[in-house]
Amino acid sequence: AESRVINFGAGPSALPDPVLEEAAKGLLNFNNTGIGIAEISHRSKMLIRDQLRVPPTHSILFLQGGGTAQFSAVVLNMLARHRLLYPDLPDEERVMDYVLTGSWSKAAVQEAARLANGTTVNIAADARTLSPDGKSFDRVPPHDAYKFSENPALIYYCENETVSGVEFSHNEKDPESFPFELLPQNTLLPLVADYSSSFMSRPIPRLADHAIIYAGAQKNLGPAGLTIVIVRQDCIVDVDAAAKLGAIPVPIGLSYKIYAEKQNMPNTPPVFAIYVTGLVLKRNAELGGLAYYEAANKRKQEKLYEVLREGEQKGVLRPFVRPGSGSWMNVVFEVLGEGAEARFLTGAEANGMKGLKGHRSVGGIRVSLYNAVTEEQVDKVVAYIRKFIAETQ
Ligand code: PMP
Repeated sequence: AESRVINFGAGPSALPDPVLEEAAKGLLNFNNTGIGIAEISHRSKMLIRDQLRVPPTHSILFLQGGGTAQFSAVVLNMLARHRLLYPDLPDEERVMDYVLTGSWSKAAVQEAARLANGTTVNIAADARTLSPDGKSFDRVPPHDAYKFSENPALIYYCENETVSGVEFSHNEKDPESFPFELLPQNTLLPLVADYSSSFMSRPIPRLADHAIIYAGAQKNLGPAGLTIVIVRQDCIVDVDAAAKLGAIPVPIGLSYKIYAEKQNMPNTPPVFAIYVTGLVLKRNAELGGLAYYEAANKRKQEKLYEVLREGEQKGVLRPFVRPGSGSWMNVVFEVLGEGAEARFLTGAEANGMKGLKGHRSVGGIRVSLYNAVTEEQVDKVVAYIRKFIAETQ
């Protein structure tokens, strides 16, 4: 572990060293542990249920295909549900509401438009229209910027936008929180959230009000290959019955019902990813669960945004996201001046810190602070940035 660099990459991202050591041993005798994969998978689902306090109204499914497959699955399953609820509604009166706060919600909108088949895709809010240049995803929209439809088949948002580093505040009193109060009350909300890059980093506000919450394991939990979907039982629908009424047929690999049925293993599960995720969940429980990570992740991002403010005051750095909308998981900023960014990256690498180059679509620097990135590692990057500021101004 001594020789390992610090991985600040956005994903696939860091895993805790003790987990990697245990997994390496586990690999050697994985096949004769005497533990069946179904058992490991069941135990991991229980740990997720405990740590996130998932109510019995919701099932936890282990799927494959990542967030990308869920862009399609949520549309198809929720349109099937809407068809079963309102069989006589003409397609042009069916609407899907999307909140646009970054490139991942944009990708989800594009997939919804591909599959819509006559259904309207309504953009309930577009954060870009609020930015100074009209095209940057630099904030969470304020609550007066949303226009939700009356009875949409789904309402979609991305909790943490991994590329530009925009995340909804978890304090409902903040203007940067998700506007739950604007949604229809006293009804089973068709609320869908992409939690890919913030899942298990802190508790999920209003979890029970969501129809679907999904995330790939590969940021905070484990290796790529496992997709976790928390789905309220009324959204696990008979997609074939819906298709008979005119809904779009749903491929079996994307149908929640197929995977939710007890004792059903419709296709080979990603066994290694489930195994390592189980080790991470077990370790999380020993450390104190989400309360532990919420506190640690809060301190980590505070230290980083503080040094960014110093850099901004001194004209060396510029945060990409407005104060209040900044992600706890992915912190994005520019290094100002000719050649300065390259100098920043070269210096970081010389100090054993990797994965800091921003996504090509926004440029700059991105520091990802997923659960497995320790506070000591954050202190190291903060000290490096502080030194860089002092040497540059
Ligand atoms: N949504 C978000 C917020 C993401 O960060 C990512 C991937 N980084 C995706 C969706 C796509 O997920 P996947 O790569 O698992 O298909």
